[in-house]
Amino acid sequence: MFKKISYALGLILFIIFAFIILKNANLNTFIDTIENRTFDLRQSILINQGHKKASDDIVIVAIDDATYEYILDTYGEWPLPRDIYANIINYLEKQSPKSVVFDLMFVKSLKSKNQADEALINAFKKYNNIFTSMNFDNQSADLRVPPDLPERMSIEVKNNSKIDFSQLTFKNCRLILEGILKASSNIGIINVSRSDDGILRKMPLVVKYKDKFYPQLALRVGLNYLGETQTNFEIDKHSNFIIGNRKIYLDDDGSAILNWYGPAGTYTYIPMYQLIKAVKGEKTELDYNFTNKIVYFGTTAASLFDIKTVPTGKIYPGVEVQATYVNNIIDNNFIRKVNKGYTIALSILLALLIASVVTRVSSAFAASMMSLSTYLIYILIAYYAMKYENLWLELIYPLIFSIGAFTVAYIVKYLIKSRDFEQQYILATTDGLTELYNHRYFQEQIRMQVEQAKRYSSNFSLIIIDIDFFKKFNDTFGHQSGDAVLRQVAQTLKKNVRATDIVCRYGGEEMSIILPNTSKDEAFSTAQKICERVASKKFKLTGDKETHVTISLGVATFPFDGDTASAIIESADKRLYTAKNSGRNQVK
Ligand code: GH3
Ligand code: MG
Ligand code: MG
Repeated sequence: MFKKISYALGLILFIIFAFIILKNANLNTFIDTIENRTFDLRQSILINQGHKKASDDIVIVAIDDATYEYILDTYGEWPLPRDIYANIINYLEKQSPKSVVFDLMFVKSLKSKNQADEALINAFKKYNNIFTSMNFDNQSADLRVPPDLPERMSIEVKNNSKIDFSQLTFKNCRLILEGILKASSNIGIINVSRSDDGILRKMPLVVKYKDKFYPQLALRVGLNYLGETQTNFEIDKHSNFIIGNRKIYLDDDGSAILNWYGPAGTYTYIPMYQLIKAVKGEKTELDYNFTNKIVYFGTTAASLFDIKTVPTGKIYPGVEVQATYVNNIIDNNFIRKVNKGYTIALSILLALLIASVVTRVSSAFAASMMSLSTYLIYILIAYYAMKYENLWLELIYPLIFSIGAFTVAYIVKYLIKSRDFEQQYILATTDGLTELYNHRYFQEQIRMQVEQAKRYSSNFSLIIIDIDFFKKFNDTFGHQSGDAVLRQVAQTLKKNVRATDIVCRYGGEEMSIILPNTSKDEAFSTAQKICERVASKKFKLTGDKETHVTISLGVATFPFDGDTASAIIESADKRLYTAKNSGRNQVK
């Protein structure tokens, strides 16, 4: 019964604890932030193992510091005149790349010398594998009028999931060259998503503007690589964005969680100045075949800052994030985060496992080690789930639940144990028939009283009681009635002494009372009172019969009647003997 109550109490405690954790929004954000760090750690370990190899089909043409200096030296200005890009495109197209992608924005407000803008626009018209980017923002209409974008730029997305795109909905956009907007459909959005701690772990797949969906640049490039021409997409009810037979999992905010291939510099980098030189027929170290490659242009120069912090490094060029993103699409390699419901179910399962370990294993050390191992095994499973299944099993909620379960189970176990101990102690010190203290307890207590009385120079008394003619009583009324009388005499003794007095069954039908801090006179009058009460009481026997019994009592007091336990007992015994010899039913 007590055990059941303890377990129920533990369960209630645990539910309250879980409720507080799950319902506290601030706590949740805090936990998610730590959870994200465990994701970063897992990703870092995996890239150190070289588990996933970046695609050889992606090459980055970098506007690095050397290129920036080269441009300023050669053309005396930045940004680079756009006809140079057009020349580079024409040069690259001779090698038939899969696509040429500019993670750069050709904004509309530039002065264009020598028809430079026209040259670039013509390149976009001429080739259907040139991609460029545009950016949405939330600038107010005071500064910019939200423009209408060409129909071709948007895609259809049917959202059957619970994903709420409000965070990925924008009011305005930074327009790029109108000629490019008119000439090309290969324009992708390059807005990013960041976690609360500023680290870029995921990227939007599509963003919303004026009630229409627009694809990320990487999505456009990825679709082109896969040869997918569809423009109607669906997000299923499990938050999967479906492309052909691929399912890209989107997190609650509509972003895809990237899987990382390495630190910055994982992809092949070519400084753009080498391409510019090659276009002009100048001598250069450039030795690369662009056939069938995705050629990503972007800035890496420190002075043209486009640097992100990602799970695998603090310095990661934006263009390499794009490359990683396309690589995820090509390899169908995005991370799928296990949803909250499953996480909580897993946490509860782990908690139950640990609670049952704690309640079953008696050694505290063994129970702690087994609980720890249980959680460590879970970490291992989570690690391999990410390694082989791209699955993000959360670690922190299960950890908190495990610690909670461990603690609560320990409290319950302690409650039950202390209660068991108490019961055993009672069993070991109590007489079963009379429920008085037993002989062993009596001996312990009287020795303790002697010690205490000696130390504090105080006194104590002992009364030994024996029922008169009890042998005859048993013979007359039977043993059962004898037992009944023994019990009732015991109760009468208890009722007539102080709470601090210790009433024991000395043996057979003899009982004793230790009275701490009690003088001989006080003890004597207590004994007298008991003697009278017993004599006047009608004791119930078996079968509704009643009868009277009498007792004889001997009183001894420390230190007057002896200064050791045995001397006091002997003295009280002698007086009892005297009482018997003097006619019984009296105190001596
Ligand atoms: P007296 O003390 O007056 O001299 O006579 P008595 O007959 O009581 O003698 P004594 O104290 O020596 O007797 C002890 C008897 O008490 C023996 C036994 O039959 C009885 N007795 C002892 N323990 C129990 C018990 O647990 N239950 C019952 N029913 N009787 C017991
Ligand atoms: Mg006796
Ligand atoms: Mg007797």
